[in-house]
Amino acid sequence: MCWNILGVPHGHDWNTPRPGEKCGYESCTKAKEGFLNVHIVPHTHDDVGWLKTVDQYYYGSRNDIQKAGVQYILDSVIKELWENSNRRFIYVETAFFWKWWTQQSDAVQRKVHALVRQGRLEFVGGAWSMNDEAAAHYQSIIDQFTWGLKKLNDTFGSCALPRVGWQIDPFGHSRELASLLAAMGYDGLFLGRLDYQDKRARLAEKRMEMLWRGDDDLGKTSDIFTGALYNTYSPPPGFCFDVLCNDEPIVDDVNSPMYNVDKRVSEFLSYVETQSQRYRTNNVILTMGGDFTYQDASMWYINLDKLIEYTNLKAAKENLNVTLFYSTPNCYLKAVKDADPVLPTKQDDFFPYASDPNAYWTGYFSSRPTTKYFEREGNNYLQMVKQLQVLADLPDHNLPVLDELRSAMGVMQHHDAVTGTEKEHVTHDYERLLDQAIEDALIIARQAFNKVAQGDALKPTVLSYDRCRLNETSCSASENSNQFVVTVYNPLAFAVDETIGVPVRDGEYSVYDSEGTVLKSQLLDITSAVLNIPTRRSKATHELFFIAKLEALSINSYYIKKTSKKAKRQTGNNKKMDDINEYNANINNYWRNVKDKIEIDMRSLEKQDVDNTNKKMVPDIPATMNREDKFVNRGNIDINVLKDKGERANQDVEEFEKLLEEENRRIETTRRIRAGFDKSYPNLNGEEMRMLSDDPMIVEQYEDNEVSIQKNGIHIAADNNGERITIQNRDLSFDLSFFYYPGCYGDNREFINRSSGAYIFRPNATEAIELETINRSKVDGDIVSEIRTTRTHNVNSVIRIYETSTYIDHYFVIGPIPIEDGIGKEYVSRYTSNLRNTGGFYTDSNGRQIIKRKINNRPQWNLTIEEPIAGNYYPVTNFIAIQSEDNILSVVTDRSRGGTSLKDGEIELMLHRRLLHDDAFGVGEALNETANGIGLVVRGYQRIYPVQPEGKLMNVKALKNHLHPIVFVSNADNLDINDWYKLRNKYTWAQRSVDGVHLLTLEPWNENLLLRLENINAFKKSVKVDLNSILKNIKIKRIKETTLAGNQWLNDNHKWEWRKEGKFVKSFNDAYGNAGYDVKADDDDDDDTDEKGLIVIKPRQIRTFIVEYDYVN
Ligand SMILES: [Zn+2]
Repeated sequence: MCWNILGVPHGHDWNTPRPGEKCGYESCTKAKEGFLNVHIVPHTHDDVGWLKTVDQYYYGSRNDIQKAGVQYILDSVIKELWENSNRRFIYVETAFFWKWWTQQSDAVQRKVHALVRQGRLEFVGGAWSMNDEAAAHYQSIIDQFTWGLKKLNDTFGSCALPRVGWQIDPFGHSRELASLLAAMGYDGLFLGRLDYQDKRARLAEKRMEMLWRGDDDLGKTSDIFTGALYNTYSPPPGFCFDVLCNDEPIVDDVNSPMYNVDKRVSEFLSYVETQSQRYRTNNVILTMGGDFTYQDASMWYINLDKLIEYTNLKAAKENLNVTLFYSTPNCYLKAVKDADPVLPTKQDDFFPYASDPNAYWTGYFSSRPTTKYFEREGNNYLQMVKQLQVLADLPDHNLPVLDELRSAMGVMQHHDAVTGTEKEHVTHDYERLLDQAIEDALIIARQAFNKVAQGDALKPTVLSYDRCRLNETSCSASENSNQFVVTVYNPLAFAVDETIGVPVRDGEYSVYDSEGTVLKSQLLDITSAVLNIPTRRSKATHELFFIAKLEALSINSYYIKKTSKKAKRQTGNNKKMDDINEYNANINNYWRNVKDKIEIDMRSLEKQDVDNTNKKMVPDIPATMNREDKFVNRGNIDINVLKDKGERANQDVEEFEKLLEEENRRIETTRRIRAGFDKSYPNLNGEEMRMLSDDPMIVEQYEDNEVSIQKNGIHIAADNNGERITIQNRDLSFDLSFFYYPGCYGDNREFINRSSGAYIFRPNATEAIELETINRSKVDGDIVSEIRTTRTHNVNSVIRIYETSTYIDHYFVIGPIPIEDGIGKEYVSRYTSNLRNTGGFYTDSNGRQIIKRKINNRPQWNLTIEEPIAGNYYPVTNFIAIQSEDNILSVVTDRSRGGTSLKDGEIELMLHRRLLHDDAFGVGEALNETANGIGLVVRGYQRIYPVQPEGKLMNVKALKNHLHPIVFVSNADNLDINDWYKLRNKYTWAQRSVDGVHLLTLEPWNENLLLRLENINAFKKSVKVDLNSILKNIKIKRIKETTLAGNQWLNDNHKWEWRKEGKFVKSFNDAYGNAGYDVKADDDDDDDTDEKGLIVIKPRQIRTFIVEYDYVN
């Protein structure tokens, strides 16, 4: 076992600095006392996909979209750094760096090693991508930092250790990320974007740099220096020396008529002087670069060399006490630290972000909902295969597929990926990458399952363990076989009971567990809304439910047999089904076909039931404006100086025009197809299902629309006014309703004319428009009961309650969002309760913390709000809640969304957006997603917890949803049940589950393990864990603790102390809005030290270990 795995040299030692070489803080040019120190920081911001795909950016293809090629940037920068030892550069996105690195010759690699050893090339951030902070889950953030930093560490050793977080472009900043970065050992964090009102106030009061407490429970260990950059991440105006810019070079030939040194130096000095007045120390940082800059690095360096030289000359001559030098964010931070300023404090977060009075970047919290869902599913698969590779002791040759999935998930966290702010073709590429990576990585799961079943991972498999598309209730293996095996993996280190739903055809089924017991099951017809999802390719008409009792880290298999074939019905069914078969693609291709432009799907017809009464309420395009005017007037003024725009405006107008035309043509075509083919291409809707069914339990339809169901103390009654959910024995009830906001449309030339788009949410109404109920039905069963409602505008919902659970699941199918009226729409669901929350509500921070929000309020400045709806939206990564004295109503989401509580008692969540205009922040496309040629249909769910003693329990509930059991199905037509019994069908790797502990990470780590344990104790108590008592087959020989990202020994990390203004409050949530509760935090270290053999994890703490281990039987 090699304990130098952090930065172990490969063969020749390229990483240890030679005599005279210095890296890290030691390599910094020392700031001069009594001088204004100007830190010139050359940098490039390389989006891991945005307007172009990751590979298009890397190779520089499609330069007609954007002139950007990352390989040229790195090539060019390395040459320029080599030329002149004063020059420095920082690099951020390890996804790109790694791709480039692996393609370099030995000679170039050696040069890069030297540059890193000498501190001339420094890594900041260093994660696989610069992750978004609203839609990214903390588990995925930690993973993608770990992955990027591991590559740097393994390659370059400690000289490549990034010291600062570099989140200069994400659109708002989360408190949890601050906490995570502190736990990863970063000394500081730099931000580019903060609300324009916040920034204004901070500039005025010199509060641009602060001490941010990341987590109240973790206290001072979560504190991190945070600096907001003066000019986002751009150079001073006029000083961009790039092929992408048009600024004047420094001309220093006195004989040239263009000579401009004096003028340029004066301009520059005046700028830095202004900037320095807004900061507390005698240091300023200048970010010399931007999006994909430095493709021809010599342009920058030639001019920066001169700027530095001539400014210093002038300063020396005129005793200006200013000094310029090449620097890095690390070195700037060190200089600030040495100046020892007193810092203001912060305990809330930087959401939402507004760049002007009408541009609230709260739309992206919900943009591209299917991508957001897929990203979450990707995490589930990643955690599973990481665990199984270790638990099942699988061969190392699996590791490349594991790495592929780690990389794909790292890319997905990028601030133009999971956010949905990329171009549509880039979305498709992200999905392609992730889909391929999941499919490749599943070899690990299959080997593990096979090893459990047969005792040998590599023995020919008996079962296929197919991935199913359960979000659309489709699964090839279960719907095409008369007997099949369902295998369920529980990735949590505690036991869960889960109601499993398997897509099947009509019939009768028996479910057997591994002991041969027949489990209670219930067959339920699939709603027509789900059957009609255009991307769905499935023969399943029903869903078979049973309850799986799953131990911690276990697999459980169930044998399911179709026990009777209802001959008469079946014949009819099969006929219809065979027709549908024609375009039944390989289900296991999963997402691959999702976005194909296939126009034959009869079930995917754009519905024509746009409610005309509602239409009147929607503001129309002014009558005086004909369609052509509309396009002509459509400008695309991008006030964001950083986003490349150029000729995009015209292109965008054309694209949009094309899109609308295509849309109309498609609707017309599908309408014609339907007219001609109706007879031979039956559309199996819900009603036909019911007619075919002879099981009276299945569905009852009520003419008067008044239905009710009840289970577990939850009563749901629905009438023409909607669904009302009442919790018995508690004074709590709430109604469910759906609304839409018509999207604002303007030319984007002025703030007030901003369109709603991929980034921006801007409703063109002060009240949302409610959708009306068309029909309703109910199902009452042993395991689940539900009420199904169809509403206008293609909105369908199911409210489901369970025999064994006390939550309520709210499923919905939304879309295509009708746009025939030329108006984009944003759909929300609203829960309106009798709970009095007096303007306060709670949203999570990256799925981990809970942050209090107050309507029309910000904790640190006086808010002026011109967008009262959009400006009150917050990111909901995982949950949102309202609370009164005796009740809490909380909603756990299946993916990231935007949410709010605009009125007392309400929770509102945005579910789907379809917009027809760009919001002019660079993406250059309207957020108008289509699949199979029509507007995208989204299925999703929310889990409502109406009764709970305290909100702190939310994390565990959210975790159960986040890391839900993963279901695989295998055809067993050739496997008799008696042969199946001979396999091992139930196995747990857990010795016992430890109460209050979440196994956050278990993954192979070179020849060892990386293990993370998180304290999720509901009562904020420390927990003690005997690591050897967690896993059955793993004996721990030795452990060593690291910082959160696993790239530095914990003992080697020393936290900086800062002077601060006043004290932190003990709890931000208690203090916010409650003048009497501002109890100050006690910042003394408590001494919960590890005991012999026991690890002590403090409340909410995550501890990370590298573990040397052996397998035992
Ligand atoms: Zn970016």
